Amino acid sequence: MTLVTQNVRVLESWLAGRWQTGKGEGKALLDASTGKPVASIDASGLDLGEALAYGREVGGKALRKMTYHERALMLKTLAQSLMENKELFYEESFATGATRKDSWIDIEGGIGTLFAFSSKARREMPNTRVFVEGAVEPLSRDDTFSGQHILSALRGTAVHINAFNFPCWGMLEKVAPALIAGVPCLVKPASQTAYVTERMVRHIQESGILPDGALQLLCGSAGDLIDHVSDQDVVTFTGSASTGQMLRGHPAIIRNSVRFTMEADSLNAAVLGPDAKPGEPEFDLFVKEVVREMTAKAGQKCTAIRRIFVPRASVSAVAEALNQRFARQVIGDPRQETVTMGPLASLGQRQEVLERVADLKTEAEVISPDTGAFPEEGAFASPILLHCDKPLSSDAVHSVEAFGPVATLMPYDDLEEAVDLTRKGKGSLVASVFTNDPSVAEEMVLGMAPFHGRVMIGNRQSAKSSTGHGSPLPMLVHGGPGRAGGGEELGGIRAIKHYMQRTAIQGAPEFLGAVTGRWVAGAPGHADSRHPFRKSLSELRTGDRLTTKSRTVTLEDIEHFAEFTGDTFYAHMDEDAARRNPFFEGRVAHGYLIVSFAAGLFVDPDEGPVLANYGVDNLRFLTPVNAGDDLKVQLTAKEISPRISADYGEVRWDCQVSNQKDEPVALYDVLTLVAKEWPENRT
Ligand code: NDP
Repeated sequence: MTLVTQNVRVLESWLAGRWQTGKGEGKALLDASTGKPVASIDASGLDLGEALAYGREVGGKALRKMTYHERALMLKTLAQSLMENKELFYEESFATGATRKDSWIDIEGGIGTLFAFSSKARREMPNTRVFVEGAVEPLSRDDTFSGQHILSALRGTAVHINAFNFPCWGMLEKVAPALIAGVPCLVKPASQTAYVTERMVRHIQESGILPDGALQLLCGSAGDLIDHVSDQDVVTFTGSASTGQMLRGHPAIIRNSVRFTMEADSLNAAVLGPDAKPGEPEFDLFVKEVVREMTAKAGQKCTAIRRIFVPRASVSAVAEALNQRFARQVIGDPRQETVTMGPLASLGQRQEVLERVADLKTEAEVISPDTGAFPEEGAFASPILLHCDKPLSSDAVHSVEAFGPVATLMPYDDLEEAVDLTRKGKGSLVASVFTNDPSVAEEMVLGMAPFHGRVMIGNRQSAKSSTGHGSPLPMLVHGGPGRAGGGEELGGIRAIKHYMQRTAIQGAPEFLGAVTGRWVAGAPGHADSRHPFRKSLSELRTGDRLTTKSRTVTLEDIEHFAEFTGDTFYAHMDEDAARRNPFFEGRVAHGYLIVSFAAGLFVDPDEGPVLANYGVDNLRFLTPVNAGDDLKVQLTAKEISPRISADYGEVRWDCQVSNQKDEPVALYDVLTLVAKEWPENRT
């Protein structure tokens, strides 16, 4: 019987604005537990050059018209819509072998990543289309030539080639930063579990939340996809090191210097500290975490623990505790609620894992009992714990990744050796150390850090709140050096920058301001008869300026401030002590007195469009202020960011306080919230 006569769902690709099927017969994708066909997949004959061009021309153009905040809000709407429909994806996900708990990581973890990027972008990025990075670099003595780094969206399509283990999270964690950057995506999920991704993309497409061309989907083999990538495209890859290396060396990637990020095999380690003896809370936490990492998604996680390092004296206790916990696992079809560990993704994947275990057995022996007499049609496997007694002189245990519920237990004799052993993984995504001794944590973490993208310290204090060894988080970097691929994903706003070009722009401050939409020191300011605090957001322009009159600081002011606030530090109160201080020539005014006087000089006191002062940035005190000095303030509107979903926005003011000799006394940014409109007759 063919797949068609069995009425099997045919997966489609969403490319160039239409659902398309391949020209070939289709390959059956089988349920990991029952072996029954779930769907058929084929991408032969699809025009992938057209799809990449469609992304660049249609998707990219539409996304670039939006600001960062608009794109971030779009992601939030998308995340809400996916969350409301999450059961659709859970239903699909069982066929991959994932339990509901496993799918939670994939589905809700993925949707949560959209929410996290949406909110981070709205909090940490301006509501603009260009991202200004770092401070202005003065390049001339007279402030007529300066430099500034900006980041702007690449004009290509981001091609995301994903692994089979996370069909939802794998897509969403990469799509989120790319879309906020303003770059359209073409997602190619691994064939084995592409039906879950297809269901989600179908929902996204039907929701109409993303503009045309912003997200495309290729179900089936990549064919000649990479031949069509060009200089402004980005390629990210998650999967096996061999495919990743082949793609990294692809002529089109090399010829066009295409940005290529890779996340591949990783022999992640967990280390039990020498202090964490049996009976200590850290011992139990360690055992629990190793079991969780070996059994969640049946060990098919890029961050799963593969190498377990414990003090030599604790080897048998750890082995016994792990085996006891393995015995409690219920392995079977994840549709049954009692099941705690599902099968591997496919029979082929199980075969691959067993072959890798055979490689490991050249250096290690299996010490876990075989609990399984499983149905033949399912890709079930028991957790496999190996033991290698000579890890320093072994190789396979540090280099063979069995991508399943498999890990090797190994002894170490001292901390230096433990660090050396973790390094034998030649670069990993993550390592964890379980200890209640800060000096152990320090030595282990600093020793391992150059070889790892993330290191987690586990102990009793964080036991309840810890997100665990295996969870990549949107705000923290995910990726690792060496054999882990050398790539970096997530990590908050950093992830968005991977889809943007950093450019150093140089010119007169006024012209830098014209490009960035910010007022730049050295550019002219403009004052008119209205105090800038009387202007609503719609009236205020960058460069609007107020220069105040002067105020003299007296000794009484300093003493009054000291008594009033309780800050009677000797530099303000004791003339002789202040003179002995290398920085002062007698008693000086408090920095916060200067800031307070500055506010008294620049505010307009009446009710008006300025709603709140929510902080200051980059405050620096530059010249000491003594009694008798005169202070004045120059306040210039530096950056104006209207919020989309509120009737106010942020205004950043450049604030310069200077003395009677025009020397800068204090420099900082004042951060305010300002109403978008403020009717004349309201005040
Ligand atoms: P692969 O490297 O075979 O596949 C990963 C992705 O690359 C899939 O989407 C695959 O598509 C695609 N791909 C394969 N060949 C090409 C090609 N020539 N051009 C473009 N894309 C291509 O890895 P698997 O997902 O099959 O997993 C195999 C092994 O990889 C695992 O056993 C495990 O060891 C490792 N792995 C590591 C992960 C990690 O993050 N550390 C995550 C997942 C896997 P298709 O499926 O259609 O072939």
